[in-house]
Amino acid sequence: MLLWLMHVKKHLSFGGLRKMLSAHFLSLAEYRQYGKITYRLHDVCMSGVAVMFFQDPSLLQFQMRMQEKLQRNNLQTLFQVEHIPQDTQMREVIDRIESESVSTLFLDFFRALQRAKYLQQYLFLDGQYLISLDGSEYFSSEKLWCPGCLRKEDKKGNVRYHHEILQAALMHPIMRQVIPLAPEAIKNTDGTTKQDCEINAAKRLVKRIRRDHPKLRIIIVADSLHSKQPFIEELHRLGMRYILVVKEDDHKILMEWVNEQRQLQEVCRLRVKDWKGRLHVYEWINGVPLNGNQETVWVNYCEYWLYDETGKNTYHNSWVTGIPIGEDNVREIVRGGRCKWKIENEVFNTLKNQGYHIEHNYGHGKKNLSMNFFLFNLLAFFMHQIFELSDGLYQQCRKAFGSKRNLWDHLRVAIRLLIFPDWQVLLMRVLRPSEFL
Ligand SMILES: [Zn+2]
Repeated sequence: MLLWLMHVKKHLSFGGLRKMLSAHFLSLAEYRQYGKITYRLHDVCMSGVAVMFFQDPSLLQFQMRMQEKLQRNNLQTLFQVEHIPQDTQMREVIDRIESESVSTLFLDFFRALQRAKYLQQYLFLDGQYLISLDGSEYFSSEKLWCPGCLRKEDKKGNVRYHHEILQAALMHPIMRQVIPLAPEAIKNTDGTTKQDCEINAAKRLVKRIRRDHPKLRIIIVADSLHSKQPFIEELHRLGMRYILVVKEDDHKILMEWVNEQRQLQEVCRLRVKDWKGRLHVYEWINGVPLNGNQETVWVNYCEYWLYDETGKNTYHNSWVTGIPIGEDNVREIVRGGRCKWKIENEVFNTLKNQGYHIEHNYGHGKKNLSMNFFLFNLLAFFMHQIFELSDGLYQQCRKAFGSKRNLWDHLRVAIRLLIFPDWQVLLMRVLRPSEFL
């Protein structure tokens, strides 16, 4: 058992993940004509991931220079790239790769984590998993566009083109690391006049999650946009549970019902003071109509207020869920619902602000370039999350350097100066430089 676990954990090491990436990119169908190929698809895709992995737009240039001087380079040793492509060639090739063929890597990484038992720490409310959904824009322009672009026109007639995705991530209230699943593109397709939207993307996304994970017991966490009857019915069909935000403006009938019950004192209440002196107030009621439809869905409702030690209200929110609420689980349900901020904070803010340069213009391309770069970026983020969970040396580095940004600054400098045979040696070098003198 122990040997087996050691074996499956190996898949999560840098070398194990690289092998998965490598095998996947080698299996991609070549769309170019034989004879016109200068760089293998494998080398081009691995280079793209490496750029995102090191969060360094000039990675290829520097490693090419190293190759010229020393006949070796870090893209070769770390990512097994035989020939480093030029930047423009990399973009042209990546633009034409179907994004769906890159997306499947998320499932490979997820399964590796699952097999090595790392997901057990994410179990929530009797063997279930919280999967949070949130939309984000990753490209915007007034000039560049493609058929998949969403279009927004202001009152003056100025058009803005943009790309959005709906992201899903597995998370747990006390776990810092989030596990991204493959995102769903919110994009227009040929032949439809109506623009795609987050709600439609959410329906496609949950169907795909169910197809990829037929047995996983899932609770979907999302904002008020999704606490609508068609989406909840879809979740019922897929055997998923949910904790969804509800807002007064969007759910008038439901809120009226709750207020009436409150006046009749039919609402359950729990007040808890924590060790910091903060007061948590929970109210809930089971069996509430979601809306005024004759065929409405009946849901369970809870509301939560947080007061700081001075009595000031610092947080307030309400959710609906299919899970029957009681005094024993109301706190967990609220913690699950509040988890949603993690996808904004830990995923999108990290991608945008912690050096991942997600909004940095890696290019829009003619077909799939911006989406594929977004996917490479998210895969790199996923790899870093896996190291935080499983790579002891990386964990030591994270501790030693304080911020993630600081650590990666050092890693970037190191690979510009020296060639490293593997990831472990690179980490050792930045962690204990004096041992290498
Ligand atoms: Zn576009």
